[in-house]
Amino acid sequence: MLKGKTALITGSTSGIGLGIAEYFAGTGANVVLNGMGDAAEIEATRARIAATYHVDVLFHDADMSHADAIEAMFRTVDDRFGGVDILVNNAGIQYVAPVDDFPASKWDAIIAINLTSAFHTIHHALPWMKQKKWGRIIQIASAHALVASPYKSAYVAAKHGIAGLTKTVALEVAEQGITVNAVCPGYVWTPLVQKQVPETAKARGISEDEVINNVLLAAQPTKKFVTVDQVAALAGFLATDAAASITGAIMPVDGGWTAH
Ligand code: NAD
Repeated sequence: MLKGKTALITGSTSGIGLGIAEYFAGTGANVVLNGMGDAAEIEATRARIAATYHVDVLFHDADMSHADAIEAMFRTVDDRFGGVDILVNNAGIQYVAPVDDFPASKWDAIIAINLTSAFHTIHHALPWMKQKKWGRIIQIASAHALVASPYKSAYVAAKHGIAGLTKTVALEVAEQGITVNAVCPGYVWTPLVQKQVPETAKARGISEDEVINNVLLAAQPTKKFVTVDQVAALAGFLATDAAASITGAIMPVDGGWTAH
């Protein structure tokens, strides 16, 4: 049980991040939601999680591509909860195109949201964790932190960068009760993946069904999408005391994809 602890999950208005937020609320932790979306829907989600699990749930709309917005979010969280015990860097976007057609603005946005935001959140979260001599930093990376696919240059570069950041910070804080790990899902059927199906079909000149069966599921020996619950359960385990010796690990949850 994580009662009394505070978990901040970036990009938790949808998909994997929302699943992880619910998982931590279920363990009794207070939760900070973050992300984009319809304000009324987000408020309904916030209220539902608070009522279901009897925990304090705060939403902050910080845009992960802006350092000052991230700093403002941490100020708000410090005022409300006194700091963050569990930081889950999950916010992410995708764009699929050949590198010579890849818009520079998309490159910049993906590097900012999928990689640089994790530097800023860690920078703000660590002083509190060091003071408490306990902390958990969980990066939702990707199988693309370990292997590449064509047409995803910015995403693969950002996720490989997250793996390097994970290992580096793990070494820096290893003696202070803080662990830093990367969870690397294969394909999970969330809005992020649904949106890239037509983009990939266009980039490869094939149908959307062919993208699902011959590109996405072809990568995963299980031939099944990974589920949000499976990713959340691993993130939850990494926050327990039983996982205190797991740090600096880059952990695939990919149906065997990176065993190829
Ligand atoms: P999703 O699109 O369902 O959720 C992404 C979340 O990030 C949303 O809450 C969105 O509002 C938020 N977000 C986007 N831009 C933001 C910004 N500028 N500032 C703040 N929040 C922002 O996607 P998902 O599939 O749940 O992806 C979550 C994470 O998991 C990403 O880092 C993604 O790379 C990673 N991942 C996903 C898959 C997959 O197959 N779905 C596989 C491996 C890794």
